[in-house]
Amino acid sequence: MANSKFEYVRSFEQPDLILPNTWIVVRIDGRGFTKLTTKHGFTKPNDKRALDLMNAAAEAVMKELPDLVIAYGNSDEFSFAFHKNCTLFERRASKLMTTIVSTFTSYYTFLWSQYLPDKPLTPPLPSFDGRATSYPSDENLRDYFSWRQTDCHINNLYNTTFWALVQQGGMKNTAAEQELKGTVSSDKNEILFSRFGINYNNEPDMFKKGSVLYRDYTPSPPRPPPSPPRKTAPTELAHPIPRRNTRPSSQPLEPSPHFFKDWTESD
Ligand code: ATP
Ligand code: ATP
Ligand code: MG
Ligand code: MG
Ligand code: MG
Ligand code: MG
Repeated sequence: MANSKFEYVRSFEQPDLILPNTWIVVRIDGRGFTKLTTKHGFTKPNDKRALDLMNAAAEAVMKELPDLVIAYGNSDEFSFAFHKNCTLFERRASKLMTTIVSTFTSYYTFLWSQYLPDKPLTPPLPSFDGRATSYPSDENLRDYFSWRQTDCHINNLYNTTFWALVQQGGMKNTAAEQELKGTVSSDKNEILFSRFGINYNNEPDMFKKGSVLYRDYTPSPPRPPPSPPRKTAPTELAHPIPRRNTRPSSQPLEPSPHFFKDWTESD
């Protein structure tokens, strides 16, 4: 029905192209997972099988979308980064974001019974929200992931202490909450160690730091050495192009492998 009299309604659609040459990060987060994890009796504070399920769904997303270079997840969230030079869907934010959300949700649901065979999935089914953000510099992208990882650390230290007070200390939820009000990290570490003999440092890395998936890439081969200067100007050019314009436009910056590794080491 091309060019029908109804076609004008297309002009109501707003453009949402993401700025070229910027990293695009799509973050998804489980909707109402506090309820969902209670309903299905997830082990608190961390059900490892449920985290493995999140990672498996994220891996499937990365396999289906080759433009993704790195993904980071913890709890019920995952962040996916598209390469700066990605041109998928003309970089339309809503298409990139909704495709990630629905692909992730499909796999999360599909793989559920494999990871949680003793917990039949019934409505309300898991769902995820999503947002797309663009980051201009490598430093911004790195800081983004550091931000999410710090969030993971803060939440996990809180949850680990909270559930120790409830499960091992026999406290009511509200009492444990009250006990933790106004405490800083060192207080929580102290509670865990002195009252429950838990050294927080020995908790699994996946719980403390989250999970990273990244695509192996081959760095571009080194450029050949420049050819020797010509003795005569090329005659075919009536107006020789100024030298700065004859160079290839700057290549998109390839992150070094260290870019992907370093930030996971920082706390
Ligand atoms: P919203 O819809 O606003 O995101 P939410 O209930 O999902 O609400 P979040 O801040 O996203 O709120 O918190 C996620 C919840 O899911 C937390 O309570 C967290 O402890 C729980 N959760 C996520 N993954 C696991 C897991 N693997 N094991 C146990 N609990 C988990
Ligand atoms: P894109 O990812 O760009 O949307 P697409 O292949 O999904 O690519 P669409 O324009 O959305 O392209 O077209 C949907 C396709 O699915 C068409 O080929 C259509 O005939 C087919 N299709 C959708 N629903 C049915 C159905 N119920 N029975 C048979 N074919 C269907
Ligand atoms: Mg949320
Ligand atoms: Mg959530
Ligand atoms: Mg969350
Ligand atoms: Mg279609």
